[in-house]
Amino acid sequence: MTYVVTEACIKCKYMDCVEVCPVDCFYEGENMLVINPSECIDCGVCEPECPAEAILPDTEDGLEAMLEINTKYSEEWPNITVSRDPPADADDYKGKDGKMELFSEKPGEGD
Ligand code: SF4
Ligand code: SF4
Repeated sequence: MTYVVTEACIKCKYMDCVEVCPVDCFYEGENMLVINPSECIDCGVCEPECPAEAILPDTEDGLEAMLEINTKYSEEWPNITVSRDPPADADDYKGKDGKMELFSEKPGEGD
């Protein structure tokens, strides 16, 4: 089992999650974060910290595609352990459906 960042994070990227992860397993893309499933220790601490409710356990149904994205991009994007300010328009995208089409494969800045 692991925790997974879902499309709810796209363009929100509040980053509250990275500060609480005991094993620093968040990785930063241009407009979302992902969790490295092989590093996540399933502690669940990050889940309630996310204002966008974007973090879920992979035991929930329908997360197969997002688990693949977390696995793939956590190998390519830089590690992030310290939060920065969220995008200025983050709240405009909070809770919106269909954000997957806005997904960017580009890496973020990392720490
Ligand atoms: S707190 Fe939630 S919305 Fe913010 S970066 Fe982490 S997973 Fe994404
Ligand atoms: S469940 Fe725990 S180890 Fe996994 S990403 Fe969240 S805080 Fe990190």
